[in-house]
Amino acid sequence: MIIKISHDISNENYNLLINEISNYKCNYFINKGNTYDVVILNGETANIDDKRFSAIVGVIKVARLSVPYKLASREFKEEDTIIKVNNVVFKQDFLPIIAGPCAVESREQILKIAKYIKENNSHILRGGIVKPRTSPYSFQGLEEEALEYMEEAKEKYNLALCCELMSVEQVEKYANHIDIIQIGARNMQNYDLLKAVGQTKKPVLLKRGLSATLEEFLMAAEYILVQGNPNVILCERGIRTFEDAYRNVTDINAIVMLKELTHLPVIADPSHSTGIYWMVEKVALATTIAGADGLIVETHYKPSIALSDGQQSLNPENFKQLCNKINKLKEFIKIESINK
Ligand code: PEP
Ligand code: MN
Repeated sequence: MIIKISHDISNENYNLLINEISNYKCNYFINKGNTYDVVILNGETANIDDKRFSAIVGVIKVARLSVPYKLASREFKEEDTIIKVNNVVFKQDFLPIIAGPCAVESREQILKIAKYIKENNSHILRGGIVKPRTSPYSFQGLEEEALEYMEEAKEKYNLALCCELMSVEQVEKYANHIDIIQIGARNMQNYDLLKAVGQTKKPVLLKRGLSATLEEFLMAAEYILVQGNPNVILCERGIRTFEDAYRNVTDINAIVMLKELTHLPVIADPSHSTGIYWMVEKVALATTIAGADGLIVETHYKPSIALSDGQQSLNPENFKQLCNKINKLKEFIKIESINK
């Protein structure tokens, strides 16, 4: 971190700055210039609140040279973090597909869907037991009843469960029954919730906020990591832009950039990033080519009767086709990496 200071800084403010700096585990030295001085800080700068320095009159500018998310960064850990759930690994070699309906609607619905998910060799079943809906009048999820159906499907088809939780109370109540806790886009910056899932040590699927920058996204991951839970899977689920021809815009750049910035696995959600069922397959393939370590997709045995997100859900036939194409792509990626 560097701090540019004016020659006009008062003695009092200069001492305040040096005092403030000495609160942190850092070395610093001062480079005296003709028009201004520069303080160079080296060491553990991730936990420094740089606004405290900028608030001092006489400080012209504060600039970070290293990223503020420490544990999530590749600088901190170079090798990929390996997260394994139900024998599948979130990694390009495996390309797991988490699949299931947007919401659990009935016992019959979830068992029908779980059956064809298993037949297509997917190992993780998704399904909302509580739903963050834009309208309070929309279907909000069956909660405990939904979890019962999910557990039955898990047992019957040997599937792991991925469910969204929206509050600290829900984490306390349901986390033990779920294999991957999903934190939805709308809760990416719900810091109490992030701390709570950080304490569970369960794999957490953290979705990117609707308009979150990658730094904000990684800072949210940092909240979970700092609690001692290293099992964070990042999910690019589309961002808000001016374009309204589809629900969101799949930020493929984000997948490429995140793989560079962090050691955490990154998966894509082409269902929410497009919002249109016939776009899902092509975007899923594109995100995989971009480096995604897996996918999460919505599927329903009959999308036209789905209580939520039917318009972006794959029917069984389209789901099967997606799985086949991803398998072919997996072979291609393997050949590519052998040839590298
Ligand atoms: C979902 O997965 O059904 C969901 C609500 O996702 P998101 O938080 O990305 O909108
Ligand atoms: Mn959904």
